[in-house]
Amino acid sequence: MSAEPPAAMRPYVLVVEDEESLATLLQYNLDKEGYRVGLSADGEEALITIDEKQPDLVILDWMLPSVSGIEVCRRLRQRAETRNLPIIMLTARGEETDRIRGLDTGADDYVVKPFSMTELCARVRAVLRRIRPGLADDRVRHGDIMIDRVAHRVKRGAQEVHLGPTEFRLLDYFMQHPGRVFSREQLLDAVWGSDVYVETRTVDVHIGRLRRALNTEGDDPIRTVRSAGYSLDL
Ligand code: CA
Repeated sequence: MSAEPPAAMRPYVLVVEDEESLATLLQYNLDKEGYRVGLSADGEEALITIDEKQPDLVILDWMLPSVSGIEVCRRLRQRAETRNLPIIMLTARGEETDRIRGLDTGADDYVVKPFSMTELCARVRAVLRRIRPGLADDRVRHGDIMIDRVAHRVKRGAQEVHLGPTEFRLLDYFMQHPGRVFSREQLLDAVWGSDVYVETRTVDVHIGRLRRALNTEGDDPIRTVRSAGYSLDL
């Protein structure tokens, strides 16, 4: 591995854990594994955080102040936007009934404390790979578009598509979430980074370039959703 991959290609994991030492340890290890990591120590706060910026995966502790992990999980499953959000539940209890309840609320996996960081990271990888194959692989396909993250190449059908670095990152991000609508602010945050000041109009400029480059056969794969943003629809 040479340079660190751009932010947009690093999956964003939200850790919801009130035990500070464990939260810090999780943050450290997930960051080392190449994920972007957010922390929340409270169930209610976690729901707000997820509303503002949807993670690619949530590591959710069972026992939390205000709203319990199980309730957070249940609420996330009730909403259309977070119905398929990958969730790994953490718990100190090991009883079989709890395990079943955990899976019933819709968690994708379940890890009993104490656990090793190697084990947890392996579970995170496995869940992401299963649910969003696009996040973990060097090559991602959606419809007739293929991107190769290692070679930095893009093809539409048999035709090579030439993209600038920003258009490449935009497309990569769309490919990770096909069909999902992103606002200009969300795209700025994911592709340019939240610490960079760029006007939202810049997003339109790069979307325009990406569109022209991909539009090989006269069918535009990028949908403009009026007053909402853009999505990749194939
Ligand atoms: Ca706890």
